[in-house]
Amino acid sequence: MGDCLKFPKLGLIYAKIHRELKGSIKTVTITKNPCDQYYASILFEDGTKKPQQSIEGNAIGIDLGLTHFAITSEGSKFDNPKWLARHERNLKIKQQQLSRKQKGSNNRNKSRKKVAKVHNKITRCREDFHHKLSRRIVDENQVIVVENLAVRNMVRNRSLSKAISQVGWGQFCTMLKYKAENEGKVYLEVDRFFASSKTCNNCLYQVSDFPLDVRFWDCPSCGIKHIDRDINAARNIRDEGLRIMAVG
Ligand SMILES: [Zn+2]
Repeated sequence: MGDCLKFPKLGLIYAKIHRELKGSIKTVTITKNPCDQYYASILFEDGTKKPQQSIEGNAIGIDLGLTHFAITSEGSKFDNPKWLARHERNLKIKQQQLSRKQKGSNNRNKSRKKVAKVHNKITRCREDFHHKLSRRIVDENQVIVVENLAVRNMVRNRSLSKAISQVGWGQFCTMLKYKAENEGKVYLEVDRFFASSKTCNNCLYQVSDFPLDVRFWDCPSCGIKHIDRDINAARNIRDEGLRIMAVG
């Protein structure tokens, strides 16, 4: 196939192919983004089976957040990349410019293309960040536990920034899942009605109420110092996953 894809009626179309195609092609889906770029998603059967799942190895819990993109039970915090905010500011400017252009004019059309281009840039950069972080987490762990996002959305209040984050979290979790499963690792989502940030990871004592701005706390029951509520939450997520797996 080389650098071309052959389509019925259209003939040979130049294509940049990212990885080796092996096995038999099942379907090809062509999509076009607002920047007039075309993508072909190729589904093929290569005959290999998914490896047997094993839980022998390191387990990690991940808390997805707004102040940090992800916090792990091992105490790592990952932020959204700084340049993302810069691109988002740029998007705002371009959108304002677009809103001032007359409807149906040539300039408006040009301006719309510019907005689409920034949008596209943000989407691809975010995707790249999610790919790299999920790859790293899957490489370093055997069992990956995250909180069920559907549950989270019901429990917590809604706002625009949360809605945007929601999209990112969803994409990130999808990547974690398929990367883990392709390697015989375990990806697990846990429901979090049990209030992970309010439960002491050491003795499971549950604090009754807890303002969001409290970052660290001492457990009134066992006395342990929680120097970071988010890491404590990530540990509870990990342990809940391990508990579920032990029960079967
Ligand atoms: Zn405690």
